[in-house]
Amino acid sequence: MRWPRAGGSSIPTEPAFAALLAELEADAGEAAGAAVAALVAGYLAEAGRGEGPVSSPATAEELAARFAEAVPLDGRPLADVLARLDRDLLSGVNRLAHPMYMGHQVSAPLAASIWTEALKAAVNNSAAVREMSPAGTAVERQVIRWMCDLAGLGTAAGGTFTSGGTEATFTALLAARARALPDAWEHGVGDAAPVVLAGEHAHYAVTRAVAELGLGMRRAVAVPSRDHRMDAAALAARLGELRRDGVPVMAVVATAGSTATGSFDDLETIGRLCEAHDVWLHVDGAHGASALVSERHRHRVRGIERARSIAWDPHKLLLMPLGTGMLLVRDEAELDRAFAQRAPYLFHGSGGRVLDQGVRSFLCSRPVDVLKLWVALQRYGLRGLAAAHDHLCDIAHDLWTAIAARDDFEAMHEPESNILCFRWRRPGLDDAALDELNRRLRETYNRSGTGWITTTVLDGRRVLRVTIMNPRTQAAHTRALLDGLAAEAGRL
Ligand SMILES: *Cc1c(COP(=O)(O)O)cnc(C)c1O
Repeated sequence: MRWPRAGGSSIPTEPAFAALLAELEADAGEAAGAAVAALVAGYLAEAGRGEGPVSSPATAEELAARFAEAVPLDGRPLADVLARLDRDLLSGVNRLAHPMYMGHQVSAPLAASIWTEALKAAVNNSAAVREMSPAGTAVERQVIRWMCDLAGLGTAAGGTFTSGGTEATFTALLAARARALPDAWEHGVGDAAPVVLAGEHAHYAVTRAVAELGLGMRRAVAVPSRDHRMDAAALAARLGELRRDGVPVMAVVATAGSTATGSFDDLETIGRLCEAHDVWLHVDGAHGASALVSERHRHRVRGIERARSIAWDPHKLLLMPLGTGMLLVRDEAELDRAFAQRAPYLFHGSGGRVLDQGVRSFLCSRPVDVLKLWVALQRYGLRGLAAAHDHLCDIAHDLWTAIAARDDFEAMHEPESNILCFRWRRPGLDDAALDELNRRLRETYNRSGTGWITTTVLDGRRVLRVTIMNPRTQAAHTRALLDGLAAEAGRL
């Protein structure tokens, strides 16, 4: 094969490369795409019907052995590779599309968004720089606008897509640092670094960011919780003490949808306190900000418009594939100041708002992940996403009702979103024995393959934890969960 070359001459192509090129083109064709799509659709259909185990019974050693081989020097037909994925990979995954998967806060993604991943990778534009993602930048800007409007952030608002909540909260606190310590970018934080206040139930992303920002972990101050939400009176007292002692406060981080129980801090009260003290309020709504799309649940985030920044993960309750996070800010200029860097070879600001999202986001090369959410909104509408969100919450609430009617389980709290912590119990056993039994129960139940849940420590007690992240999960499945757990507990 020969490539024509401008000017009429040509570079002879190596035969080996010509053969490879033919295979690359064959893999770009519809038949190859259909074969990949068949594998994906087959997985979704089988797991979605609840067939087969929820997770793999294989041990870590068995799985490592399955893939332990020398790096392939030569390729093989795509069909062989897909067969290998089917046999060796798909039999070793957690099947989040299975209605009995009720484990971590990772979604069973919406199908239209799953397919969008292929298009995103095919065009492979990088979202950080406008000239590298002309349409993608416009879509990101528009979706951020919609989401800022939902949060009531006003006309100066803006933001960026992120890899998730961890990056969003890091970036938000970086912006808060730029406001509190404008010189920190050039000179570091110095000795009199400010503190960050967060509820004791806050996600570890908060203390991690405090440490990453050079403040030192000890400058992350935990505010006690009451009923699994930040005790606003304790926050008020703490802010007063710090002011009296002359300790500057860089930010308060409130949580909307806490990791353990899905509870919501009182954003209205916390927001007013932050305004009174002129402190940056960041809302970690990675999990719970999606309540904004729901008529029935948006009261849970009342006051969120008082935040200067909001972390919101569509890859949680908006059922996006992983890698779909957002940071929204009330004043986009404050986010731009977080990253004081100039990169003339990439960003071409010429006064006014810079269109390159890279001036306000952490990553350099960044996929156009917004496409997944844009497609989902076009395909299902905000109402469709809200209905799915509300269903997840309804199923968790229904499970809570079902537990109240039994004496072999007790719920630890009424769910405010799609998360419920509960416990198996038996008369005559003390707390320490029940802690151990619940821990073992979760292990043996998950190993059985009939379902998959998580566990955590809540108020000092080992508890079982369910997160409903799959619209296929119905009340019948949570009943099967309770019966399955009870049967397993009987064997312990
Ligand atoms: C999931 C979660 C995070 C972390 O977000 P990632 O998307 O996993 O980086 C932070 N805070 C809360 C409250 C979360 O639920």
